[in-house]
Amino acid sequence: MDPYELIVIGAGPAGITAAVYAARKKMGLLVISTDVGGQAAWSGDVENYTGYQFITGPDLAAKFEEHMKKYDIRMKEGEAVVGLKKDGGIVNVRTAKGEYAARTVIVASGKRSRELGVPGEKEFKNKGLTYCATCDGPIFSGKDVAVIGGGNSALDAAIQMANIANKVYIINNTPELGGEEIVRGKLENNPKVEILNNNRVTQILGDGTVSGIKVSAGERERTIPVKGIFVEIGLLPNSDFAKELERNELGEIKVNCRNETNVPGIFAAGDVTDVPEKQIIIAAGEGAKACLSAFKYLSQH
Ligand SMILES: Cc1cc2nc3c(=O)[nH]c(=O)nc-3n(C[C@H](O)[C@H](O)[C@H](O)COP(=O)(O)OP(=O)(O)OC[C@H]3O[C@@H](n4cnc5c(N)ncnc54)[C@H](O)[C@@H]3O)c2cc1C
Repeated sequence: MDPYELIVIGAGPAGITAAVYAARKKMGLLVISTDVGGQAAWSGDVENYTGYQFITGPDLAAKFEEHMKKYDIRMKEGEAVVGLKKDGGIVNVRTAKGEYAARTVIVASGKRSRELGVPGEKEFKNKGLTYCATCDGPIFSGKDVAVIGGGNSALDAAIQMANIANKVYIINNTPELGGEEIVRGKLENNPKVEILNNNRVTQILGDGTVSGIKVSAGERERTIPVKGIFVEIGLLPNSDFAKELERNELGEIKVNCRNETNVPGIFAAGDVTDVPEKQIIIAAGEGAKACLSAFKYLSQH
């Protein structure tokens, strides 16, 4: 089979925007992604995407998907890329299900949640322990829950959960919460929320499903009974499969202002790159730029 002109890896804001631009330019296109929407679908309230004064993350992600699917785009949904290699003028993209070839590739695989690495985490994953308050929060309506972390994502999750849970513990391992002051203030004044600074999670407890969490503050260890645990301790770039590409110390793919990587014909866009500031509108803009650069590359090679 002839190689595609472009393979886009990932269907978050960056990948979807790249795909829409590619479809409008009638490029021979394949999109490969484990899901559609990416992190945009995890966000609670989005108030900084131009044109929408307010929209929820899942609604914005649905609008992105609807826009992309308006075009006749070939898509491999539910497939994760595990290898990427350029051979001659062709880039080979490998997933667990097959191998695909293209003349250009845009890596737009974004970020994933960082794990806690404590006993019980793997055992109770999706059995009360989750990494996405927007996706799974409603399951814990009226229950006691813990949010682990102290940055913007943790604060976002805690605000969402304070609206529906009975009680929200915020377990933060630094002396005070980070994130935006206005959001911090909302949480500090909410009687349903208890903030435990300088506390470290040591174990997730349960029997079939989560029943509690063990935390320690110096020598002192205590068990807090909760039914839900939201791990919000940061994100890691999904760049493990892109070993051929130059990456920074955080694992982010290095790109120039034209979204070119160190390998000609391979471009990258959005949160997986070293472009500063990780936002939906930035990822979408970078996806558009990457597609236009790939289009130009094809016309010159
Ligand atoms: C809780 C939370 C709240 C947020 N709130 C806001 C907000 O209010 N406003 C704002 O502007 N930004 C917000 N952000 C940030 C914003 O969501 C991201 O900057 C944006 O989604 C990045 O887009 P992306 O396309 O680069 O990556 P992602 O959204 O991470 O999408 C990556 C895509 O790649 C796919 N993928 C990953 N690995 C592979 C693989 N190996 N093979 C194939 N496909 C793969 C994924 O399934 C996904 O579809 C928030 C983020 C979080 C976590």
